[in-house]
Amino acid sequence: MKPVCHRPRVVIVGAGFGGLAAAKRLAGRDVDVILVDRRNHHVIQPLLYQVATAALSPADIAGPIRAIFSHSPNVRVLLDEAIGVRPFDAQVEMKSGTSLAYDWLILATGARHSYFGHEEWSDNAPGLKSIEDALAIRRKILLAFEKAETETDLRRRQGLLTFVVIGGGPTGVEMAGAIAELARRSVSRDFRNITPQCSRVILLEAGKRLLPTFPKELSEAAGRSLKGLGVEVRLGDPVRDVGDGYVDTQNELISARTVVWAAGVTASAAADWLGADRDQNGRVLVDPDLRLPGHRNIFVIGDTASAPGRTGRSLPAVAPVAKQQGRFVAEVILGRRSRNFGYRDFGHLATIGRSRAVIEMGGLRLSGLTAWLIWSFAHVWFLIGFRSRLAVTINWLWNYLTYQRSARLITGEIADTGPPPIRARPLERKCA
Ligand SMILES: Cc1cc2nc3c(=O)[nH]c(=O)nc-3n(C[C@H](O)[C@H](O)[C@H](O)COP(=O)(O)OP(=O)(O)OC[C@H]3O[C@@H](n4cnc5c(N)ncnc54)[C@H](O)[C@@H]3O)c2cc1C
Repeated sequence: MKPVCHRPRVVIVGAGFGGLAAAKRLAGRDVDVILVDRRNHHVIQPLLYQVATAALSPADIAGPIRAIFSHSPNVRVLLDEAIGVRPFDAQVEMKSGTSLAYDWLILATGARHSYFGHEEWSDNAPGLKSIEDALAIRRKILLAFEKAETETDLRRRQGLLTFVVIGGGPTGVEMAGAIAELARRSVSRDFRNITPQCSRVILLEAGKRLLPTFPKELSEAAGRSLKGLGVEVRLGDPVRDVGDGYVDTQNELISARTVVWAAGVTASAAADWLGADRDQNGRVLVDPDLRLPGHRNIFVIGDTASAPGRTGRSLPAVAPVAKQQGRFVAEVILGRRSRNFGYRDFGHLATIGRSRAVIEMGGLRLSGLTAWLIWSFAHVWFLIGFRSRLAVTINWLWNYLTYQRSARLITGEIADTGPPPIRARPLERKCA
């Protein structure tokens, strides 16, 4: 009797940057891949803020996972959600009630928002992690302008036109810059009762500087660029409370209808599924070859993993780490690598508005327009494989030249955004 030929089965949970990179590397190889995600699309998260501020449309920054692998017969895509892992009988439990057997398992389920124990803030200060989040924030911002146009009470109008971003990391800096440009340049000329002076964009950071992972001079350059756009940057001002229409900080009770949370993330629940040791952000502590300690056939990668870097400190939760780790574990499974994972750091970048950015690459530190051009190129590069690459470039050019936002659509009922309750201290400035 002929022996039954068994191709190894690789189950990948999560089709974000890490899972997708692994699946792409395994496509067309002598393995059967099952790629599971609870969404049917892959999202380029670094560009979510552009959807939230109406510069790009969702389809510009997301693509159906199934379509990415339509020419890879050994990759099967499943729309389902993992809810547990049984390492000792090599099964992943799915929300649909089924379970998936694996020879190799790659967990790449990313991260979610963390409100540092204040989950009750999430209703009034949504975070930005998915297309749904970005659309909800876009709706909130655009509705605030519409309501302000008809609001006759000055204090209420100012609350509608006050936008608070909490968290001074790259997402917070990018979001604050983009809202400031939207408020002061793109929309103000389309309304008759709103003037740029009415809008207030406040960036709150509990620490002593913006962009703490960047060199100090670039943090300062980012702060100057934001101030140039009219953003009020508050450093060392931790948030004490967030509620309906207000943010309470150590220094001010701010009346604001739109608040965006960009202050913290925590890893997905993978550490709970595995009963694994984790770091303070909930990331699974993995071996230097990205395996779960004691389990040779389970890898954890990307934002879900805490992997040691060359200096011994754990690697940052950024897209290049996830992508390189995805490719690395695929190579290990294919038997092409046996050593530990080594991260190649190409630098950090963050953009501020439509023509400024800060970049650190090796010894190179740049800010201003040149940095912005490099940032734009790098982010269009992220879109390889999506038909929208050209569309995004055209949209950006259009926005750049005209200050217009092509995706200023409010969908759904408008009744749910009332004027904010008056919570602020007396107005200090006149807004007409
Ligand atoms: C707003 C924002 C801006 C960012 N900007 C930058 C930047 O400028 N530069 C940079 O390098 N990094 C940036 N990042 C971080 C970067 O996006 C992440 O480090 C990267 O996406 C991590 O990749 P990942 O594969 O680990 O997880 P993700 O890309 O988050 O993918 C996780 C995937 O798993 C799926 N999933 C989760 N749980 C389950 C489950 N239980 N079952 C099935 N599927 C599941 C999710 O749907 C998702 O598709 C940003 C992140 C955000 C949110």
